[in-house]
Amino acid sequence: MPDYVTFTRNVFLPVTNVCRNRCRYCGFRREPSHPEANLMTVKEIEHILKQGTRFGCTEALFTFGEKPEEHKIFREWIGNIGYSSIIDYLVDLCELSIVCGLLPHSNPGVMDFHDIKRLKPLNASMGLMLETTANLPAHEGCAGKLLSERIETIKNAGKLKIPFTTGLLIGIGENMDDRVQSLNLIKKLHLQYRHIQEVIIQPFSPKPGTKMAGFPEPPHQEVVDTVTAARSILPDDVTIQVPPNLTRFEELIGCGASDLGGISPYTIDWINPDAGWPQIPELTGKLGRIQLRERLPIYPRYVHAGWYDPGLSDLIEQYTDGDGFRDGNRY
Ligand code: SF4
Repeated sequence: MPDYVTFTRNVFLPVTNVCRNRCRYCGFRREPSHPEANLMTVKEIEHILKQGTRFGCTEALFTFGEKPEEHKIFREWIGNIGYSSIIDYLVDLCELSIVCGLLPHSNPGVMDFHDIKRLKPLNASMGLMLETTANLPAHEGCAGKLLSERIETIKNAGKLKIPFTTGLLIGIGENMDDRVQSLNLIKKLHLQYRHIQEVIIQPFSPKPGTKMAGFPEPPHQEVVDTVTAARSILPDDVTIQVPPNLTRFEELIGCGASDLGGISPYTIDWINPDAGWPQIPELTGKLGRIQLRERLPIYPRYVHAGWYDPGLSDLIEQYTDGDGFRDGNRY
């Protein structure tokens, strides 16, 4: 058992739900012509960022659809607010986040080296789920789910020394051999660049109205087996994260998980909107004697190694204790 389990306190900013991909399990994406298709305004984002600082958060989690500008309607939307791509817009939103006192962690999907390099100075960490090495019907026709594209993005983040989050989505049609192959690939990428700070083991959760609405959730034992495999395959300096709103996390801690990811006191999990975040009293109750410790979106060892831009120094120094965790927040 670990002495402590970590988490971050964040706000979740779903900048747009328009996406070029069409993952069969996704309940978040909307066609640009759909009445619920959305591009958040600066005013909406700023309001959430300010609420985040009021609630004591340190992280602004920017997660949204990939390359939405491949849709003509979206190009018009983003053009109307003065940008040519979602990455251009994201750069300004990250700057706004820093001004508001929150450290950006962006998940824009696959990106080329140039775009990742633009975002690096403005992000404490970034992420892209590997999801799986398997070629699955769930990803049919999704350009961004090509394995080679995802590997390239993760490699480029490594070349740029960006503390990085990746992970597996389990139960979307892959099997245990595929998961082991995915974990070995992540291990290889980490040994090459030393930039993977955490690997999320996330179970598939069916969403109404999607093509996989009737697909079963993976049994808890498969989650246990995958976390156990992850802990035995991945190097010790890569943390295993399990989402506490989608798993029986307290049973996964003994198998090697030691992080609960971002928990928001203000926003919902926009990807799994029906799965509410357990708040701190519930988490500590379930963890028993294991301490709950707050961290920043950048893990302590990357704080110590200085893997961040000078533009983030003030916030990181303000928020961390001598060990590189969130100052004064142990539960
Ligand atoms: S899961 Fe992500 S990449 Fe796939 S359609 Fe939904 S938003 Fe797009």
